[in-house]
Amino acid sequence: MIKYTEALKIVLQNVKQIGLEKKALTEVLGRVLAEDIIADRDNPPADNSGMDGFAVKYEDIKGATEDNPAVLKLVGEAKAGGEPPKIQKGQAAAIYTGGLIPEGADTVVQKELAKVEDNKVFIFQELPKGANIRPQGGDYKKGEILIKAGKTIRPAEIGIMASVNKATVYVNQKPRVGILTTGDEILDIGEPITSDSQIRTSNTYALYAQILEAGAEPVIIGFAKDNPEDMIKKLSYAKSCDVLLTTGGVSVGEYDLVKDFVCEQLGVEILFWKVAQKPGKPVAFGVWGNEKEKLFFGIPGNPVACMFVFESLVKPAIRKMMGYSEIYNPIVKAKLKNGYKRKKGDRQEFIRVYVEKTDDCFVAEVKGKQGSNILTGMVKANGFGVVDIGVTEIKENEEITVILFDTNFLMMEEDKIQL
Ligand code: AMP
Ligand code: MG
Repeated sequence: MIKYTEALKIVLQNVKQIGLEKKALTEVLGRVLAEDIIADRDNPPADNSGMDGFAVKYEDIKGATEDNPAVLKLVGEAKAGGEPPKIQKGQAAAIYTGGLIPEGADTVVQKELAKVEDNKVFIFQELPKGANIRPQGGDYKKGEILIKAGKTIRPAEIGIMASVNKATVYVNQKPRVGILTTGDEILDIGEPITSDSQIRTSNTYALYAQILEAGAEPVIIGFAKDNPEDMIKKLSYAKSCDVLLTTGGVSVGEYDLVKDFVCEQLGVEILFWKVAQKPGKPVAFGVWGNEKEKLFFGIPGNPVACMFVFESLVKPAIRKMMGYSEIYNPIVKAKLKNGYKRKKGDRQEFIRVYVEKTDDCFVAEVKGKQGSNILTGMVKANGFGVVDIGVTEIKENEEITVILFDTNFLMMEEDKIQL
């Protein structure tokens, strides 16, 4: 059986990047930028003022003090968006933040250091030459790459793109990720329960949300019973997907048909089945499509295994497919407050923990029962603590690596701004 790291390597080696699409700037928040963003002009485009005050010649204010102010003739004003006047020796122009520096001026004296009386400006302090001037190109120069392709688009990136006149921008498409839920016992939300052997699906909707969180487009393909006819019918709906996820039916039980049927119906080539991990051991992975550009993940039905397999294998794959430069969940080292013991160390285990921030370190606590069917354990947790192969005990307060799937805890009560 291969190890998790090998499985991840195989998955990522087989990911092909999805195509691009052009989108309006107002629609690309959170998407992956697929082109470099280049400055169309210098910013600022010309020298301008960083303050409200007076544009002067440095020579004219040299030596000015409270008792011996420089006295200059006021000759006009330079507003943001206006044409500035020219100034000569002995003259000053009123200037406002963003106003262009008048020809002849080389320094701006802020309002607080000056006074106007009878069209005369009194300057009470010498300032260094060039003070309060924002120079042309001080932020960036025309032709400079401002944002590189692969970056996640946040509000700041949108602001920059607007400022360089991009109304539309190329982003990577969102892969269509299909969810086929299998199992004779599985019911969708709303279907009447008539027997204790029936199970209401959690996987369909947890996966749906995980796909959204990863930035892709979820598609519920349907629910298939554990029989060939139904499986064949429902799999035919999967053809338009870039990634197919099935849940249930990948272990060795008699009714576990999924692997064989995706191979027959969709031409999936299975690249591995079973990983030495807990939860999620019976996971299957393959590629399909004309150029083997589509991915298949056969995910076990147990709800925790299902969510874990998504976080650990599917999410990095679909983020790579979308061109993200950041494909992994954040990882921290934490002290495991309550320790953890297990009987066998033959698989790498990913235990449900809740991480908190203390003044000097992260502290993790094992949360809830650890069965791969116990979804309430996921509700109580924000990370998967990694217990390596060969390790059967992590002592109290020993360090553990945690893969986070939720980082909200970083906002501790006392860190929140009190309004
Ligand atoms: P399987 O992988 O089909 O052997 O299923 C393993 C366990 O997961 C069984 O107890 C199933 O009832 C349960 N299970 C399978 N599919 C789902 C689902 N969509 N939602 C919740 N539990 C499920
Ligand atoms: Mg089943």
